[in-house]
Amino acid sequence: MALTRRAFLRCALGTVTAVAFAGPSAGASRAAPGVTGGWRPAYLDLEDEGLFEERVDQACAMLEHCELCPRRCGVNRLAGEIGACRSPEQVVVFSAQPHFGEELPLVGRFGSGTIFFSNCNLRCVFCQNWPIAHEGRGDRLDDERLAELMLRVQQIGCHNINLVTPTHVMPHILRAVRIAAKRGLNIPLCYNTGGYDSLEAVQLLDGIVDIYLPDLKFMDSGPAERLAGAADYPETARAAIREMHRQVGELVTDASGIALRGLMIRHLVMPNRLAGTREFVRWVADTLPATTYVNIMSQYRVEHRAFEHPEIARAITTQEYLEAMDWAEEAGLENLDERSLMNREVFRRRG
Ligand code: SF4
Repeated sequence: MALTRRAFLRCALGTVTAVAFAGPSAGASRAAPGVTGGWRPAYLDLEDEGLFEERVDQACAMLEHCELCPRRCGVNRLAGEIGACRSPEQVVVFSAQPHFGEELPLVGRFGSGTIFFSNCNLRCVFCQNWPIAHEGRGDRLDDERLAELMLRVQQIGCHNINLVTPTHVMPHILRAVRIAAKRGLNIPLCYNTGGYDSLEAVQLLDGIVDIYLPDLKFMDSGPAERLAGAADYPETARAAIREMHRQVGELVTDASGIALRGLMIRHLVMPNRLAGTREFVRWVADTLPATTYVNIMSQYRVEHRAFEHPEIARAITTQEYLEAMDWAEEAGLENLDERSLMNREVFRRRG
């Protein structure tokens, strides 16, 4: 039976509540697909080497004078002080469920196990998830409950744990992963970030995260300041992505095309070339291997407060998307997302 959007969201909320308070249901168990062929997620090796606990401690210490992200608010999150991301002391989760709208190597047959974290360290006026990211809707969970959610999405067969908007709650996530790993978590961790990550925080994730899925939203500080409240976004996101690539390299999949490890970059084409798409593809081509997985996304919508900003108060045009894809190919990028290539055909037919 097809689900309406409203029913789907209701299910998603229900999933958090059910899992958080009732625990995993054994009846829905399926073999985790990522563990075949001798492959292991990075965090299990780090635990075996005795290094995971120390990494968790280092991450948690960053909360005391919060410098988890480039905003460096300096608030004591452990004492409940609130910084720019508006995060309370506990993690807030909006939903946890298989998601089939992500990149195909993440989705496979049984879906990507998305856990949507509420609040965000970016303030994008065009936020597509504004009720979650800006209003902080969701349920507060302790580490045990978050670990249960991770085990639950593995149990229902998801191919990965897809941590959506994790930056401001990274220490909480690491604590929960460690608990879940001791109880059998063994699928890849996918760090699905807006890209506004400090280098120090990303370095702490070395040997823990298997798949990095960062946005690179802006290449110029002007639009980054006006539209996301972060003038330093371009340089910090580029530095973070270089470090992510150093850690995990290019995308590696299993025999059926399911992502196991590597970097996948997202870039949303915006009206009036405000995302700097031409500079983006040139930067990738100049900095990373030509075979880096890149998703040039066409789904910009006028959401949240975008209608107050005339420069982004419309959909992108056919020409804006087609020129973006042409620039990517001219730059020599060889591993463009399959759905973006299909979207190009749709835009071409529209003319
Ligand atoms: S994670 Fe939140 S509190 Fe910490 S520096 Fe970033 S915006 Fe500020």
